[in-house]
Amino acid sequence: MPARAAVLALLLALSLGLFARRALLLVRLVRLGRPVDRSGDLPRRLLREVAHVLGQRKLLQRPLPGLMHALIFWGFLVLLTTIAEALGQVIDPDFALPLIGRAGWLGLLQDLFAAGVLAGIAIALWIRLVQRPERFIGSHAREAYRILGWITWIVLTLFLGNAARIAQGVAEAPRAWTPISSLLARPLEGLSEGRLFLLEQASLWVHLALIFSFLVYLTYSKHLHIATSAINVFLAKTEPPGALTPLPISLEALEAGEQSLGAATIVDLTHKELLDLYTCTECGRCQALCPAWNTGKPLSPKLLVMNLRDQLFAEGPGILAARARGEEAQATPLVPEVVDEAVVWSCTTCGACVRECPVDIEHIDTIVDLRRNLVMAESRFPQEAGALLRNLENANNPWGMPQSQRAAWAEGLDVPVLGEGDPAPDVLYWVGCASAFDDRARRIARSLAKLLSAAGVSFAILGPRELCTGDPARRMGNEYLFQELAERNVATLTEAGVTTIVANCPHCFNTLRNEYPRYGGRFEVLHHTELLARLVREGKLRPSAALDTLLAYHDPCYLGRHNGIYEEPRALLATVPGVRSVEMPRHGPRGFCCGAGGARMWMEERIGKRINEERADEAAATGADTVGVACPYCLVMLDDGHRARGDDVRVLDVAQVLERAALPEPAPSPTD
Ligand code: SF4
Ligand code: SF4
Repeated sequence: MPARAAVLALLLALSLGLFARRALLLVRLVRLGRPVDRSGDLPRRLLREVAHVLGQRKLLQRPLPGLMHALIFWGFLVLLTTIAEALGQVIDPDFALPLIGRAGWLGLLQDLFAAGVLAGIAIALWIRLVQRPERFIGSHAREAYRILGWITWIVLTLFLGNAARIAQGVAEAPRAWTPISSLLARPLEGLSEGRLFLLEQASLWVHLALIFSFLVYLTYSKHLHIATSAINVFLAKTEPPGALTPLPISLEALEAGEQSLGAATIVDLTHKELLDLYTCTECGRCQALCPAWNTGKPLSPKLLVMNLRDQLFAEGPGILAARARGEEAQATPLVPEVVDEAVVWSCTTCGACVRECPVDIEHIDTIVDLRRNLVMAESRFPQEAGALLRNLENANNPWGMPQSQRAAWAEGLDVPVLGEGDPAPDVLYWVGCASAFDDRARRIARSLAKLLSAAGVSFAILGPRELCTGDPARRMGNEYLFQELAERNVATLTEAGVTTIVANCPHCFNTLRNEYPRYGGRFEVLHHTELLARLVREGKLRPSAALDTLLAYHDPCYLGRHNGIYEEPRALLATVPGVRSVEMPRHGPRGFCCGAGGARMWMEERIGKRINEERADEAAATGADTVGVACPYCLVMLDDGHRARGDDVRVLDVAQVLERAALPEPAPSPTD
């Protein structure tokens, strides 16, 4: 016995020692990055831990792969008890866990969950070998099979050891409680006691050797996520998903060389962004829904994460060694050496990747940090986007239009413009630059203003005092410009005594609601579909004229995925007589972007298929004659998409649809 205990202690010490050595390096590599505060909102973090990690909620959004992972994950939680038993039984064959070790229910749980792990492995093989989903393109397939094989042997040796113990009559749980192991014990029953003992001990030792080596191997493999997922989920943002992680800019720190503008090299990523790299399981769920990847762009959120991870492992140890010598290592610029510039600019910040990722990786923050460095430190961006930034700097709006033209869309509508010192209206209508300056989007503003007037809402607009919220500047990477615009807008709104804002642009809505509070702007912010739905519910608007249309509603990313508003626009459309709704295959939380977010609205789309045309194809395939939107960007993009197709599908904002039903134009009289 002392010899067996010594061997076990040696193996355990070796595997734990190697694990700890690697873990220490991994921690030091993460600490190379920038600190980011993720300490607040503990209850929410704990709840998410329960839902995402223990409950596997995000994984189970896809039933078959979710079931596969849950079976393996939950199985291993239960099998922690069998590992503890095996550790004891290689030293003392009569060992059982204190209190619960000989309980029938524990034996049953262990038996069923071990079988569940094998079922999970079978599903994984079915998915990989038979279904062959495209989401695995670029993932390490060989490593995945190696891990699946490893886990299979861990469970098979467990069963074999159990069966040998049952055949010897020394198993802890009553035989009836371990049906699968008992079944496997039957063919062994003719063996001598000595051979059964040998078989049992050999199985246990191999079982433990597999586990010890797995413990070390996982720290070098994509299965590192086993160790880091729970931490990554805990540290994920608790702010609304539409709020970008801010980059507080201090001019003094910049001048002293103590602050980096975004991410130039791997060490400029934040601690969370670096931990994200370890945690990627290469499942490809993000890639499967990425509009850029799906239209032939070079951006795959999965491959981006994998490339950055490779870079961290390739360069990080050298940087640590240099720092240990008191030297500052010259780190490689991430763009374009590690990440192609086209990758950085292809992202629409649609949020599909972040929402899908089962381990809460925050791809958008990383991409925007790369953009921040290109834009603010290097002045490198697509040429057309330069006009956007110049217009924002010089004219306070992306169109470069004079601010005096802000209210031109309202001509003839008698919309009150809030002057300095005027009493605050009940509702401030935040028009947004698109609805103020784009000819097609202006129609949304006119519809909304008419509906608000008809419903008796006391509202006003800021007119020339409204500036761009800064959303396109921020998503493009110009955090400095965003902060300046945000502070000026917050000052105007606060001075005017505004308490409630309605915005018809989801980008403005998201920024006002989720990002301005950090700059002191705390208002009740509604999207126009929320307010209009309320007005219809209260009977202040009565959609009564029938429209006779088949309508496919397109979920704007910044309304749906980033703010969870899917139902209000649909509920509103359902109140309109004659509107028959049809859903596109990609809708709701798995909706497909129009291609305009992330400042892509102002960039050319030269690679692959145009995203708006892909979406227009999908809408047209439903047979709908109208596409409903709730965003001026989507309206323009999808209208362009349908024009390019040459079809006669109309694109209308929900407000325009409601106006036609609630405020129909009077029919021309026979004498007209
Ligand atoms: S935010 Fe959208 S476009 Fe950007 S990487 Fe994620 S899925 Fe792709
Ligand atoms: S980033 Fe998340 S969703 Fe994408 S491959 Fe990695 S784990 Fe899967």
